Amino acid sequence: MMVRCGACRNQFEVPGAGRFACPVCGSVNVVRESAGTAPPNMGGYPTAPGVAGTPAPPPPPPVTAPLPRIECPECSFSFLVGDIAVATCPNCGAQVRTGLGSPEEE
Ligand SMILES: [Zn+2]
Ligand SMILES: [Zn+2]
Repeated sequence: MMVRCGACRNQFEVPGAGRFACPVCGSVNVVRESAGTAPPNMGGYPTAPGVAGTPAPPPPPPVTAPLPRIECPECSFSFLVGDIAVATCPNCGAQVRTGLGSPEEE
């Protein structure tokens, strides 16, 4: 099987699992039975025992929608609001309906 040296990335043939010195740079590479290709560790040190299988990939970060920006009808100050129906203008303190959050009442 072909393995790739973790130090110099040279590929060389090995008969199977074991520890083999790279013919190019001399770094000892640990080859495991299950590892089809190059060992994931770099530098020839085996990974910690007891780690079975491949770890699950981390969940993707939560996608946060950009906050809507509204403009105060009193002072034309533009500011970001959250998911609320009525926001208070940070500039003049006016109560501004955002059209968001709970439905508007007539
Ligand atoms: Zn090497
Ligand atoms: Zn305002």
